[in-house]
Amino acid sequence: MQAKIQAILQSREILGKEPRVYMQGYDIPELSARLFPVKTQNGLYLAVWSGEEKNVFERPSLVWREKDEVCAVYPFSFSNYLRLTRFLAHLKPSPFNHHPSFGCGDRLGMVSAAHLKALKEFPVFPVIAQQSPRELQKTRRSFADVLLGAAWGILESGYQGTFGADADHIKDEQDLLEARDLGYSMFTLDLSEKVNYRAFAMDERELSRRYEEMNAQEQEVFGRYRDKKFTLSLGVEVDLSEEKLLPLVLAYLPAVEQVEYWYHLLREELSSFDLEISLDEGESITSPEAHFFMAEELHRRGIDFRSIAPRFPGVFEKGIDYIGDREEFSRALWTQVAVARDIGGYRLSLHSGSDKFSIYPIFFRETGGLFHLKTSGTSWLQGVAVVAEKNPELFLRIYQVAYDTFEENLKAYRLSVRKEELPANIGKVKESDVPKLLRDTRICQLLHISYGSILEVVGEELRRFLFAEENTHYRKVCENIRKHLVVLFGEER
Ligand SMILES: [Zn+2]
Repeated sequence: MQAKIQAILQSREILGKEPRVYMQGYDIPELSARLFPVKTQNGLYLAVWSGEEKNVFERPSLVWREKDEVCAVYPFSFSNYLRLTRFLAHLKPSPFNHHPSFGCGDRLGMVSAAHLKALKEFPVFPVIAQQSPRELQKTRRSFADVLLGAAWGILESGYQGTFGADADHIKDEQDLLEARDLGYSMFTLDLSEKVNYRAFAMDERELSRRYEEMNAQEQEVFGRYRDKKFTLSLGVEVDLSEEKLLPLVLAYLPAVEQVEYWYHLLREELSSFDLEISLDEGESITSPEAHFFMAEELHRRGIDFRSIAPRFPGVFEKGIDYIGDREEFSRALWTQVAVARDIGGYRLSLHSGSDKFSIYPIFFRETGGLFHLKTSGTSWLQGVAVVAEKNPELFLRIYQVAYDTFEENLKAYRLSVRKEELPANIGKVKESDVPKLLRDTRICQLLHISYGSILEVVGEELRRFLFAEENTHYRKVCENIRKHLVVLFGEER
């Protein structure tokens, strides 16, 4: 039947060249039909083969009839995806509660099948839809597109398990509600702009003035923790003496209140979801006291969050290994683990996790496997690597765009590379040497942060090229994620 569908599509050509029919198809008993995922250069489709035309999906792109056989091809639009979830419920994301989990961002929306292939070999819950509003804006995609891309990966690969969809780094209510209503299962609340970090820079005079001006709510919270000291099970001390507690309350209480408000917006519609508290892009390293205060206050308010991403010491830049003192990271992680274990019910989350190979073993060991880890740009870079290997001319143009827009892209990402360190002109590099350019971590970092500009200029061409090179693209993406997981799990597999 696969071959027949391929032939039908090829004869019409209206859906674009090189139609690919995936899998042996899915039986849909409720419709007495068999459904095949179809991909062409123009997009994604569902081919439904049955004895008569069904009106379950909308806007067919093509209907083929012969005697008592009908093959109708529908665009894999969001509304057709929702219709499909009535029959294939595993295409809907679901929360993962307390399992270790691994998030893969798919900026191009092309490689979820490759992500799944790597992830399913390891005991992790796969979060294969994961983008932030910042990424969406740069890639000109939407939360709906991202979920659709992930669901497509499930459909295309034949994966039958569960998966998560993470609305990452949410800062605005509008984004939160949009992701909620689309069916996302995980919400990462970015509190970097809600925490009042200035409180830690206040001098004594300002602090005592703020103390006098505290409202009833602040006073109540302050009184609850005032002068308390806790020794946690791992021997980690949490000191909430008055002088430490005051800036802590002033800084973090607004964030707690924001989470509480957002949590209730989610609860209005959803009975179960994964909530992540993200402090990783905040201005200062998260102290054990700050973590303790946040977690305690959230639990006291009945907020069931599932993970917290503290800001750790060291630098987590895109596309390269951890920069910093690993001993210091290890000690900081230890205190965060102590708080999380004592309070209980949630895990630690590590963001910008791509390529942080040197700290993975520590992270795995200290968290006892109770973690969430996020990677994103690393798979995007694999796509660029395919171009470097197979289409040096396109790669040179991509590099030029990235180089020319460096300052612009630096606004959204923190990078220690300076423009002077990057080659201004790589046009003279021999074609066979182009892939070697990616051994230079500075060039990787440049390409890592420039995805928005690159997609704007050569996005269509890049997608068309990667569509044609799908096998190589998938293989590279899968191997790269597998490499992350092998280092992370070490001998524990
Ligand atoms: Zn983050």
